[in-house]
Amino acid sequence: MTELFDLKGQVAIVTGASSGLGAHFAEVLAQAGAKVAVGARRVERLTTLADKIADNGGEALPVELDVTDAGSIVAAVQAAETELGHISILVNNAGIPSAGRTIEMEEDEWDNVLDTNLKGAWLMAREVGRHMVAHETAGRIINISSVIGVRTAAKRVLAYSISKAGMVNLTETMALELADKGICVNAIAPGYIHTELNHDFLNSPAGQRIATRVPIGRFGETADLDGALLLLAGPAARYITGSVVTIDGGLSLSAL
Ligand code: NAD
Repeated sequence: MTELFDLKGQVAIVTGASSGLGAHFAEVLAQAGAKVAVGARRVERLTTLADKIADNGGEALPVELDVTDAGSIVAAVQAAETELGHISILVNNAGIPSAGRTIEMEEDEWDNVLDTNLKGAWLMAREVGRHMVAHETAGRIINISSVIGVRTAAKRVLAYSISKAGMVNLTETMALELADKGICVNAIAPGYIHTELNHDFLNSPAGQRIATRVPIGRFGETADLDGALLLLAGPAARYITGSVVTIDGGLSLSAL
């Protein structure tokens, strides 16, 4: 059964890999045997991550990448293909938060959030998808949405939640378009997962109040996403496309 989750011979590219979930996803894919291009704007962080992956017996390539810049995407994908081989797994993880409400938010914030989270994911899928189709690669695209892209949440996340809801429809539409090319497109919708960036908030009194609403009784850890990641990245996903896997300890079943 282990071959269902074996990624030997696969090449992955992970966006937003300089921190948090993206760095973790890159390490997990490498542990499962994939060569991994780690993409983000902060190259020195990527180099540290690639060294760590190499120390653990994997192979990773740092690639400078800004998902809002189509030229940067073309260059990063080309570098990964040249150095590592044909890309078979794309993890669209790069994302930025937003705290704006309808009547207060500036236009720039809307544009930045939608350009990064939603348009960036499409631009990446367009470029990687072109390579996958040209090389007849049985591909996997995994979009990192959010639980608030699946269920409408509270105030102050207008642009963010719309970008993540857009990723759900992007996932479903691309799944339909690419199914006959052997490319499976799925999404992961995490709830609150501990990372460096949200550590202080999740441990604050406000964060702890949210924790009491999580049916499983705690926030998630990055490792809680590993099973879904490996399921959707490898051979086990051969008949899974257009799915959204919610990983939130049951939070979306209670009030967000
Ligand atoms: P994070 O800020 O550590 O990671 C986001 C990464 O995206 C960073 O490395 C950042 O540099 C990168 N990035 C931002 N703009 C970019 C751009 N233009 N080009 C390339 N890279 C860019 O936060 P995280 O918690 O690890 O979040 C990762 C993803 O998971 C995000 O899409 C986020 O919305 C999603 N998510 C996180 C949680 C959570 O609780 N941590 C929950 C739901 C969804």
